[in-house]
Amino acid sequence: MFFQPTTVLEVKDLLADYKNAKLLAGGTDLLLEIKRDKINPKYLIDISHVDSLKEITDGEDEITIGSMVTFSQLLENPLIKTHFHSLIECAKGMGSPQIRNMATIGGNIINAQAAADSIPCIMSLDGVLVIESQKGIRKVSCESYFEYYSQERIKDDEILTKVILPKSNGLTGFYKLGKRNSLAIARMITSIYLSVENEIIKEIALCLGAVGKFPFRVKEIEREAIGKRIDWLYSEEPLNLLENSVYESIKERKSMPFKKEAIKGVYKAALKNVGWEDDRSDN
Ligand SMILES: Cc1cc2nc3c(=O)[nH]c(=O)nc-3n(C[C@H](O)[C@H](O)[C@H](O)COP(=O)(O)OP(=O)(O)OC[C@H]3O[C@@H](n4cnc5c(N)ncnc54)[C@H](O)[C@@H]3O)c2cc1C
Repeated sequence: MFFQPTTVLEVKDLLADYKNAKLLAGGTDLLLEIKRDKINPKYLIDISHVDSLKEITDGEDEITIGSMVTFSQLLENPLIKTHFHSLIECAKGMGSPQIRNMATIGGNIINAQAAADSIPCIMSLDGVLVIESQKGIRKVSCESYFEYYSQERIKDDEILTKVILPKSNGLTGFYKLGKRNSLAIARMITSIYLSVENEIIKEIALCLGAVGKFPFRVKEIEREAIGKRIDWLYSEEPLNLLENSVYESIKERKSMPFKKEAIKGVYKAALKNVGWEDDRSDN
């Protein structure tokens, strides 16, 4: 059975009434899975007619992105351009123009692929996921959602409605190595958020994608960096910590020797993308 609700309320009612129904957003992941017989949902709820999920809104301290916002929409949106450089960089690198027109941020997050482009980016921006069902609304940070995935993951009767990103004056950068269809070993992502005052690092979030089951923050580097001069980020020390953290995350995998080295280049490129004294990250 196929449903096309036009409000979130209707979606929640349908999810409560039809157990194991699947939500269909842009369909770029889900329709492939159905075509390849990986899943065969009895009930499909197409949420592409729920206009309230397609909005990007400006609040005093935060920007709210509806889960049905596509990557093309992100790329063109003035609020995103003003506040979240890394998200623009992330959207630019998502698939082809056709994919960017269809693929939604909600689908990218909920599909929970290790190499999903938006997850490390949203995580580094301290994003919060708003998840709703007939039972109520819960908010969970993107970081906690993936850190405690078995508890926090979306339930069958829930819909991700929004992603909330706090506004800040920090600098952001993003870099992805490799394309989806290239060798899996060559896929890696780094996303950075930095707040710097008088060349001293006040806040930092550094996230890696495609070097573990889910994207994660590199807390060792974040802890060390706070209070240091920004030059520290360009030194050998974070590179060693980075190597170690990738080693720990994927030590059983064949790709580990390549990835623990290659991540250093991906990190430097993301740092360069932040735009703080471009020439330093060239070495
Ligand atoms: C050729 C090609 C290239 C691609 N390139 C990239 C790439 O470069 N980077 C990348 O990260 N991905 C890439 N993808 C993967 C895909 O496009 C993204 O993951 C996309 O963002 C998924 O969004 P969607 O709207 O199409 O989701 P769908 O396919 O509609 O849904 C995906 C899953 O999420 C669930 N879901 C969707 N929305 C919600 C919601 N609001 N609440 C709860 N559950 C929901 C669905 O039920 C389903 O399980 C590519 C795919 C293709 C086919």
